[in-house]
Amino acid sequence: MRLAVLGAGYVGLVTSTCLAEIGHSVACIDLDEQKMARLSRGEIPFHERGLSELVMANVQAGRLRFSSRLDAVVADAEAVFIAVGTPTLEADGRADLSQVYAAARSIARLVSSGALIIVKSTVPVGTGDEIERIIRTANPVADFDVVSNPEFLREGAAIDDFMHPDRVVIGVESERARARASAIYAPLKLAPETTLLVSRRSSELTKYAANGFLAIKLSYINEIADFCETVGADIEDVARGVGLDRRIGAAFLRPGPGYGGSCLPKDTLALARSAEDHGIASRMIDATIVVNNSRRRMMVQRIADAAGGDLENKMVAVLGLTFKANTDDLRESPAVDIVRGMLQRGARVRAFDPAGMAERKLLPPDLVCASSAYDAAEKADVLVIATEWPEFRSLDLPRLRRAMNGTVMVDLRNLFSAKAASGSGFIYHGVGRGANGAGVVDRKHAVTRFETAAATS
Ligand code: NAD
Repeated sequence: MRLAVLGAGYVGLVTSTCLAEIGHSVACIDLDEQKMARLSRGEIPFHERGLSELVMANVQAGRLRFSSRLDAVVADAEAVFIAVGTPTLEADGRADLSQVYAAARSIARLVSSGALIIVKSTVPVGTGDEIERIIRTANPVADFDVVSNPEFLREGAAIDDFMHPDRVVIGVESERARARASAIYAPLKLAPETTLLVSRRSSELTKYAANGFLAIKLSYINEIADFCETVGADIEDVARGVGLDRRIGAAFLRPGPGYGGSCLPKDTLALARSAEDHGIASRMIDATIVVNNSRRRMMVQRIADAAGGDLENKMVAVLGLTFKANTDDLRESPAVDIVRGMLQRGARVRAFDPAGMAERKLLPPDLVCASSAYDAAEKADVLVIATEWPEFRSLDLPRLRRAMNGTVMVDLRNLFSAKAASGSGFIYHGVGRGANGAGVVDRKHAVTRFETAAATS
């Protein structure tokens, strides 16, 4: 099929490339001219394993192109994907839908007869109705269907997630849209139970409900980690014991500095606000947001406690800045907020990240970027592991320790065992490790059950 994709961000570029890879003819468009120029030169604007090769192969095969001719591309397309950003509205935490609505307006007069407008962006329930209204108002004779098809890919595993999805959710309001939208994914040859054909509103809400649940799991395990520290239990054992239950599953039960990234923080807020707009209580999500917001402050305090109670003039080496491993995405990264918190408390911070230091302007100006983990550790009083990059696991711990002035390691990702770290001369502080290396929960920085989401968000 001939497809157009608006937006060449994480989702738009991965979607365009994978749709081309499965045989469609895809034109990808972005308003950001610099991004388009880079893509036309074969440069991928972000770090995603395998994407560069796949883009190149599909451009060469003539199935994928980057275009700035919106009119020609949309008029020719059988389906137009909207994969633009839906960031948080600073004023109230709702999803900012201005990019989505602007995209809808820009294509309203161009859509071909019978075209599908497929919304990949994460949007609150009812957004599809509004897109339909916008297009119909601008072009009353247009013949089109608006489809919801939220994206569930994970940065760092995006291509695999697209090609082998747990599920594809397609929300439609007509038989025609159901048949044509399903045809786009037919080359993936998914098992029938993997494709969910539902109403548009169910599809829109599925995305927020899924991200909300992942966030709940993370905040929950972080609270259980605090409990472990207080009572001398080990969260690694507890989480394994919980996750082996097939009703629960092991994913998203890793304790740490709280969730971040471009999706969970904004989607949990948007879910809460959307529920509120519809007169629904969102107590679970509100509590999740409260727990997560307090987490970063607690981690800064934990590092200060491990450093002897104070960070003033302490030299802190930080390994990892991205919100998780295998991405260069710094959006809402807990590591960056923790660095900021330590700088505010008078620490000097030197950090190393395998992929997250290219966009210097997104990092605090006082942060020093190091050329390697060993360089970051040079003369440091404290070593903080802030992102779970797999390559950190093979670091030479005795060498790191020798490079430092101090002996304290605060491992916010439980990447190392207390035994390995202390065997290399470190005083080890993990998260929720109880007797196996942990600080004590700092009650001042923990939130109480009476604190509301509004008070901390
Ligand atoms: P992004 O900010 O990386 O990219 C969005 C792109 O859209 C930008 O390059 C912007 O210039 C472009 N754009 C804006 N308006 C446009 C228009 N009218 N025409 C063409 N291009 C336009 O965002 P992203 O991370 O790709 O996320 C996109 C959507 O997908 C969001 O709703 C997000 O919540 C959702 N999502 C993201 C992920 C993820 O891991 N990043 C996963 C699942 C869902």
